[in-house]
Amino acid sequence: MLHASVAKRDYYEVLGVPREAPPDDLKRAYRRLARELHPDRNPDNPAAEEAFKEASEAYRVLSDSEQRRRYDRMGHAAFNGEGSGSFDPADLGGLGEILDGLFGEVFGGRRRRRSGRDLTYELELTFEEAALGVTKHIEIERPAPCKTCKGSGAAPGTKVSECPVCKGRGEVRSQRGFLGGYRICTACNGTGTKIHVPCPDCDGRGFNTVRDRMEIRLPPGVEDGAVRTLRGAGEATSTGSGDLHVTVRVAPHELFERVGADVRCTVPVSFPQAVLGATLEVPTLEAKVQMKLPPGTQSGKVFRLRGKGIPVYGGMGKGDQLVTIIVEVPAKVTRQQRKLIEELAAELGEDSMPQQASFLDKLKRLFD
Ligand SMILES: [Zn+2]
Ligand SMILES: [Zn+2]
Repeated sequence: MLHASVAKRDYYEVLGVPREAPPDDLKRAYRRLARELHPDRNPDNPAAEEAFKEASEAYRVLSDSEQRRRYDRMGHAAFNGEGSGSFDPADLGGLGEILDGLFGEVFGGRRRRRSGRDLTYELELTFEEAALGVTKHIEIERPAPCKTCKGSGAAPGTKVSECPVCKGRGEVRSQRGFLGGYRICTACNGTGTKIHVPCPDCDGRGFNTVRDRMEIRLPPGVEDGAVRTLRGAGEATSTGSGDLHVTVRVAPHELFERVGADVRCTVPVSFPQAVLGATLEVPTLEAKVQMKLPPGTQSGKVFRLRGKGIPVYGGMGKGDQLVTIIVEVPAKVTRQQRKLIEELAAELGEDSMPQQASFLDKLKRLFD
């Protein structure tokens, strides 16, 4: 059960209708929610998908007069966790199919031809491109109506007649999902026509794959997983084009890590540098900068370089760069180095290591 730990919401509340709502009102309410929440419209949005499943389940129960009566009498208990359970939204079909199913019952008759499908594209950016903004040119392959036959699939000047399977409607009744609904006629691929001589340029399909070059501007601060939608850049058909959804992938960086608008980086320093202080060369997004390391810097200390981070998305100002200092200890020492370090150790008393002195003190108290 998906909602095991959450109390199930009332179905009428989910659809936003009163308990006495007539079937047409339920349908209208569900259609509005499906338009808003369907995964086709909300790629990678689990919250919308959950809400869509919830609305679909509510509609499935309330649109069935027998199930609705049972629900009105007993609430969710009527189904005992089964029957009204969750299901995969893929079972419901695409948004177009759902809306068509609902429209079909309302208006009957001839159906709308489907317009172009949405397409997706993954765009990889470097860390710097994402941080500073970039304009990219991408090439996509997408189906577009064949120019020779203008999308009909028939060789120019040859006969085209009505598809005998769907009687020219392009779709046939299907029992898929709870709506019944319609599906595209496979005999004519939804065109509603029968072709006698296929167009030589598209083999009768009515469309060809074209390569298109598009420009996409990404503002500074775009994040990994962000989706930009190019309207009309999806599959093109004679009745309209779908959209192209571009998902941004930001490659990891060797030195930088992003935390909101801040950039984190770790700089190793030697023990003498940490003790005596030093001037360090630190990489930032746009250039190398010099940073003063004060004497006596502890390992793990974080310094903030103001305004050296990522521009705040859609706003003014910039994040900072956070520089974490790590004191690197020699992994191997020569005999001479060992001697010097031993001399140094003998020389370093409690006064020079207050943290250690306090720790040893606490440790002693803990077991005495
Ligand atoms: Zn053609
Ligand atoms: Zn057909």
